[in-house]
Amino acid sequence: MRQILTDSFGREHQYLRISLTEKCNLRCTYCMPSDGVVLSPKDHLMTADEVITLAKLFVENGVNKIRLTGGEPLLRKDFDDILLRLSDLDIELSLTTNGILVDRHLETFKASNIETVNLSLDTLRPEKFKLITLRDQFKKASENIDLLLNEGFNVKINVVLISGFNDDEIIDFINLTRERSIQVRFIEFMPFLGNRWDRSKLVSEQFILDKVYAAFSNSTRLPEPRNLISRDYKIDGYLGSFGIISTMTNPFCDGCNRIRLTANGKLKNCLFSQSETDLLTPYRNGEDILPVIQKAIWAKRAKRAGMDTFETMTDPKYFEQNRSMITIGG
Ligand code: SAM
Ligand code: SF4
Ligand code: SF4
Repeated sequence: MRQILTDSFGREHQYLRISLTEKCNLRCTYCMPSDGVVLSPKDHLMTADEVITLAKLFVENGVNKIRLTGGEPLLRKDFDDILLRLSDLDIELSLTTNGILVDRHLETFKASNIETVNLSLDTLRPEKFKLITLRDQFKKASENIDLLLNEGFNVKINVVLISGFNDDEIIDFINLTRERSIQVRFIEFMPFLGNRWDRSKLVSEQFILDKVYAAFSNSTRLPEPRNLISRDYKIDGYLGSFGIISTMTNPFCDGCNRIRLTANGKLKNCLFSQSETDLLTPYRNGEDILPVIQKAIWAKRAKRAGMDTFETMTDPKYFEQNRSMITIGG
């Protein structure tokens, strides 16, 4: 059974990211197209029961880690129900959120098996937060980070770096790890449909490392797990750590174990895949979807859905055939 989730390069996909919604309460300019997205009709979205059943099917076939994402997953009215039901599965369960609604769901977080929460925060300055998210919610986001830390959760902070916007905050973010046991993860700005990606806005892994080495003489590279997601470092003596997700300039595809299920039930075998595989319709028709899943995984390309050079990766001809990030789930 297990080989259903193994691709033609021998990569086993044990990590499933499930998007719960295409909606969001922020409007991050690098994610949400300025003219919005066409939302799926409600009856095309997975119900809570369908999320659970499909998740179980993946777990029976080798998935051992599930991350809930979106859009903003906490916006979903039945989020607590979904989280608690998933927490009965024998998996590592986690969540990526913009943090705004975390306080309303804290008791459910505690009741589930979530240990780590990934929170997106691209700036430490309230006025810049409003510029990038188009919403005045910095205070709530940062209060909720403190709340999670005080409650003993591991917190990872995702920072999408954009040249000229927040690349001057790299060291400030790393300094957050001095007295707090958090992991900051700098993400290279990636192109998706409608997000106005521009090469001049890309802050590369090398740029980040140059900044780090100029500011600190005592950084250590941390050991790399097999299914690397970020290259991680620590400043000696600091409680937390930081990592770099260099999907654009130095991707991690060789050890990729990640697949995605969109809120409308489409399987994406890569973040950048231009094609997707509908699971929800055949599932609703009572068909056996295991062969469908197997075929989709087998078709996965070696690197970035076939965009293996920087040139192809940054050519709108290719990436504009993908969805907007808000409807994929990062
Ligand atoms: N709303 C939640 C949040 O922001 O954490 C979850 C969904 S969001 C799409 C998941 C992650 O994707 C976030 O950390 C976000 O910063 C990241 N992301 C969105 N657009 C991106 C882009 N163009 N390049 C790199 N990361 C991006
Ligand atoms: Fe919403 Fe997350 Fe996208 Fe920002 S990154 S618009 S919070 S889905
Ligand atoms: Fe995996 Fe695709 Fe990301 Fe590469 S680009 S690590 S293949 S999801």
